Amino acid sequence: MDYQNRAGSKFGGGGVASTSATNADRRERLRKLALETIDLDKDPYFFKNHVGSFECRLCLTVHQNDGSYLAHTQGRKHQTNLARRAAKEQREGKKDEGAQTGLLAGVQVKKNLIRIGRPGYRITKVRDPISRQNGLLFQFQFPDIIPKTEPRVRFMSAYEQRIEEPDPNYQYFVVAGDPYETVAVKLQAREVDRREGKFWTWFDEDSKEFWAQVLFKTERDERFSAVPGLAPGRK
Ligand SMILES: [Zn+2]
Repeated sequence: MDYQNRAGSKFGGGGVASTSATNADRRERLRKLALETIDLDKDPYFFKNHVGSFECRLCLTVHQNDGSYLAHTQGRKHQTNLARRAAKEQREGKKDEGAQTGLLAGVQVKKNLIRIGRPGYRITKVRDPISRQNGLLFQFQFPDIIPKTEPRVRFMSAYEQRIEEPDPNYQYFVVAGDPYETVAVKLQAREVDRREGKFWTWFDEDSKEFWAQVLFKTERDERFSAVPGLAPGRK
């Protein structure tokens, strides 16, 4: 999906209304970023109904578009319901059902696919030289990834995963590339800066190396942001 080049591209690139980013542009950019990170096909609570709206089967809410749904998944209501669901399943002893080493809940496993182990990786601590934001640079090796596919990433809250006891101090950065095992890196539960150039992924088709950079918002920015998990972008 390429929303960025859609506006104006048919008309020779001159049709964009304004040079400054409007709120609509900002929402569209957030939506695009969220769509790149969150795989809706694998979200067990995401449901597209017959009239084309989107429903959260966990919270029984209706959303007009996928962007609105994605924002909802980062909100308090959804996160609270996830926590309740996790607690209920734990009481009922369902906690470990379907759990496999190296795989997290919400990541559906293609049953007939033979897994070939985990991708090689390197993680480097980074710091944005201008904003002084701390973060991590990930480098994964996927030499035998299925041709013409790229690794996918998403962030998962402590309550979404079922591998270990939910600890709200952590979140998980999940990387999937078939036929490798899906892996997750445990991160501190700080808000990720999803603005362009701060959070990015890149797959090198030739070397089959997958790169991702995650920068955390500064504590000051975290205090001022409205929606946890979805950065508000520049003001
Ligand atoms: Zn929900």
